[in-house]
Amino acid sequence: MTRAAIIIGGVLLLLVAAAGWFAPYVYGELAVWLEPHAIVDSAPARLARGRMVDDYFAVEDLGDGTFAIGEPRYYQQNYSYLIVGETRAVLFDSGSGTRDISGVVAGLTKLPVTVIVSHLHFDHLGGIGAFEHVGMIDLPETRANVSGGVFKPSRYEYMGFFDHRAAPSFRVGEWLAPGGAIDLGGRSLRLLSTPGHTPSSVALLDSANRRLFIGDFIYPTTLYAFLPGASLSAYQATARMLLGTMPKDTVLWTAHCCRKSEGVSAPWLSMADLRDLDAALAAVRAGQARATGFYPRVFPVNDEMTLATGFPWNNQ
Ligand SMILES: [Zn+2]
Ligand SMILES: [Zn+2]
Repeated sequence: MTRAAIIIGGVLLLLVAAAGWFAPYVYGELAVWLEPHAIVDSAPARLARGRMVDDYFAVEDLGDGTFAIGEPRYYQQNYSYLIVGETRAVLFDSGSGTRDISGVVAGLTKLPVTVIVSHLHFDHLGGIGAFEHVGMIDLPETRANVSGGVFKPSRYEYMGFFDHRAAPSFRVGEWLAPGGAIDLGGRSLRLLSTPGHTPSSVALLDSANRRLFIGDFIYPTTLYAFLPGASLSAYQATARMLLGTMPKDTVLWTAHCCRKSEGVSAPWLSMADLRDLDAALAAVRAGQARATGFYPRVFPVNDEMTLATGFPWNNQ
């Protein structure tokens, strides 16, 4: 009897561990049915700042040759950023690909454009096919995606099934060293490796203008720290690295809209918000934070953000 109880207990433990391991994948596959939604809102966007292009893209001039290009009618309300130097420009994220962003970019600069994506999720990489020159962070994970000279993200790196999209294949023209400088002529950016949301996530630092383009690491609304590849320990290590190295007046330009008080406009956060995220991560990892929901578990961060995590809550 005791032996039977031990075996049954062991099997149950294994089942719980397996459920935790597979949950990010199962959640991703089922999300399209669990959370049905229109890809594009049929209503026109009402911008707090900037102007609409083709009734789909929102363009906002941030000054210093920097533009935010948003997709406010796309259900994830993504924002990409165009950073223009004297000899070339960088587009940080290629848009979701729901509509072709390249015409908007061509309307803002005639210089050659290099696209660098913040990470490989479909809503940031989906528009890559319209561009000829792609720069990619040089990591073992990203090199592993190249076969026959062509880069293709895996199913669970791209997650395109959320929008019924197949992953794109493309050539990488420039492998970029983590921490390395990117010369645009007259201005320079630095590529930072910022794992947490995904292992190969990056941020672009424009230190002359105190701007950090930070992708999905942090943004207003709910942070996703539970999809395949997400890691709370990596999230916290990156947050601490940024808190320890960025000036306090750095503005974080994020990849999803919107701030509560500002309506539809390029979404930004401050270093104070990053400190709040670090504190929330510490509380979650110490088992001292109260969550709502079963999967994902959603923890409070501050007025602008919550943090959604998977199994186990405190030790990913
Ligand atoms: Zn993402
Ligand atoms: Zn995203």
